[in-house]
Amino acid sequence: MSQSDDCLFCKIIAGEIPSTKVYEDDTVYAFKDIAPKAKVHVLIVPRKHYANAAELAKADPKTLAHIVEVAQHIADDAFHGAYRLVFNTGKDAGQSVFHVHAHVLTGQKFEE
Ligand code: 5GP
Repeated sequence: MSQSDDCLFCKIIAGEIPSTKVYEDDTVYAFKDIAPKAKVHVLIVPRKHYANAAELAKADPKTLAHIVEVAQHIADDAFHGAYRLVFNTGKDAGQSVFHVHAHVLTGQKFEE
């Protein structure tokens, strides 16, 4: 599926809802989370709509690997390459937007 009519992140990617862009290319868009849980909290989303990380891994593993690569670049700039990468998957795990997104949490030290 390339775009879902009622998807918040599809609207952000299309520029219909404003966001603070951090990075973009042909396959992904990265923007600041509206309610940051770390000093630097960026969401990376594929331009194509997939509901969650498992769907993306099955349909397009190259883009999933690319998301990890982009996260690394963001953390290289923000915090000497150290970061947490989180994919909440399923409502009971805290997923609230069903367009797969990687949370990149960086810019600060985390406890183990
Ligand atoms: P989830 O809970 O699905 O793993 O993550 C969704 C994330 O999207 C949350 O961290 C939330 O703060 C963020 N978010 C929700 N609505 C918006 C919005 O309109 N703009 C931006 N930039 N982030 C949003």
